[in-house]
Amino acid sequence: MKIAILGCGQLARMMAQAAARLDVVCSFVALEGEDSACVAALGKVVCWSPGDDTPSLYASLDQPSMITVEREAIDVALLRELTTLCPVAPSPESVLVGQNRSLERAMLHALHIPCAPYRIATDIDEVPAAVAALGLPLVIKACESGYDGKLQWRLHAPADVARFCQSHERGHWLIEKLVDFKCEVSIVAARSGDSRFVAYPLTENHHRDGILLASIAPARQVPERLQQAATSYLRTIMGHLGYIGVMAAEFFVVDDGLLVNELAPRVHNSGHWTMQENMASQFENHLRAILSMPLGATRLCHYAGMINILGSNEGVGPGDLHDPEACMHLYNKAPAPRRKLGHLTVSASSEGELLSRLNRLHETLYGAENTYLRPACDIPAKEA
Ligand code: AMP
Repeated sequence: MKIAILGCGQLARMMAQAAARLDVVCSFVALEGEDSACVAALGKVVCWSPGDDTPSLYASLDQPSMITVEREAIDVALLRELTTLCPVAPSPESVLVGQNRSLERAMLHALHIPCAPYRIATDIDEVPAAVAALGLPLVIKACESGYDGKLQWRLHAPADVARFCQSHERGHWLIEKLVDFKCEVSIVAARSGDSRFVAYPLTENHHRDGILLASIAPARQVPERLQQAATSYLRTIMGHLGYIGVMAAEFFVVDDGLLVNELAPRVHNSGHWTMQENMASQFENHLRAILSMPLGATRLCHYAGMINILGSNEGVGPGDLHDPEACMHLYNKAPAPRRKLGHLTVSASSEGELLSRLNRLHETLYGAENTYLRPACDIPAKEA
């Protein structure tokens, strides 16, 4: 079986590593200017630029029987053309929704799935009215191309609004109330063409400068009803889209439940801990879903965590880690500030053991001065 993956980053790398265990051979499409070091030696890499002939691309990829993506920033026109040559999953329409915060919010609204109060502005002139309707503080996010906190502006005072309006001329923005959340969680689920669906436990996420730093599963002190709500939201969304593959949803935990922050039509950084566990990883389940194989187990028997190796930690190697039970995944990337260079996964038989392992790894990676774990979500016990 041959598949092609659009994109050559670490998610493509880990998908190809899972594919090898399923006897699936991968080829990769490197988009114009894309570094393919992450997938070096994992399969054939074909370069593509807008305007290139799609049937020739398909032939160069050795005519795969399925095409998938590793991220949402993909040329949707190319995906649509590829659907005339072989099945593509997730569908171009699902990828399109994940590319555009405005489309995403409209879909959530239509499906009655909660998110923070928002307005869409398609011109700078519309920003003041949106701000007046919502009230400060706010976050403004570009509808397209923003990720890891990029292309986002926080507005706390009228002067911030004036500054934003003066420094932008054109744009398409999601303007959203700043949410006073208890913590951030995410859920990863897989859905196959015949509507089979599995979801992993809700994962608690910790960010640094807008980038995911670490994940803990299951999310601490989050009542079962929130796991059920998250699962049901994602099942509804994936069913609505006729989605095939793995999708992730990020949420804010607030007093009365969950608010969706973002959807990702792909495998997700907050699901990397699934690689360590006695279950099908998110990468394997993505492949199983798109290749119409039975979906694998997602039940977590103990506690699992993940910490990202961010920035230029060139010196970190297995010998530097204080926890010999941590599993190290390096992506073969050149170090650069804020770049995800790899991650570590750990598991433990108790929450306390997991936290101390993650904190030890954090100290090794980032120094003793900062302890990253925010207090756990303090949802009253009676709700559990
Ligand atoms: P995003 O790129 O939308 O995932 O945002 C990056 C990070 O910014 C999130 O993980 C949150 O920590 C924070 N953030 C985004 N939107 C909001 C919001 N409406 N209220 C509070 N924090 C937010």
